[in-house]
Amino acid sequence: MGSRAADQHAAGAGGRFPDPHHDHSACSAGALEVAEAICAARGEKMTALRRHVLAIVWRGHRPVGAYDILAAMQAENGRKVAPPTVYRTLDFLRQQGLVHRVESLNAYVGCPDPVRPHRVQFMICSDCGVAAEIDDARVGQALDSAAAAAGFVPRQPMVEVSGLCARCAAPRDGSPAQG
Ligand SMILES: [Zn+2]
Ligand SMILES: [Zn+2]
Ligand SMILES: [Zn+2]
Repeated sequence: MGSRAADQHAAGAGGRFPDPHHDHSACSAGALEVAEAICAARGEKMTALRRHVLAIVWRGHRPVGAYDILAAMQAENGRKVAPPTVYRTLDFLRQQGLVHRVESLNAYVGCPDPVRPHRVQFMICSDCGVAAEIDDARVGQALDSAAAAAGFVPRQPMVEVSGLCARCAAPRDGSPAQG
């Protein structure tokens, strides 16, 4: 099920900040293709609405808020979309692992590797706003053992680290900085 696209996609974005010069149109097209394949394999419908919301989320690697999604839909459709419709759609996309919610920003970002079950952990650049998933099982394992030692039952384990990505942390040398 679209495994070639999934592999190419994961290779480009898995666990790292996307290259600022990557071909994002191919990146988002690949994500939509993988999403279609996942829904088809699970017997879920990728409706026009779901596809549109996912496409808006995938316009970049910066998490987008529900109201920004709503505004984009209204601007493009020319008709009012009710907030609950957008939230319901985002819930569906989250349940399928196609988007993640970034709690600290109250925003949503596309998952670069939705085929593989994984913990949701983020590094979020406070300068350019890009969020990258942390692809390291040890982070989750450390949390599990800390919780077990405390007799704590984690319900919503989330790891969100804010800071600067390598590009934003690098000294500006007068070269044209983008974004
Ligand atoms: Zn991209
Ligand atoms: Zn993910
Ligand atoms: Zn950055």
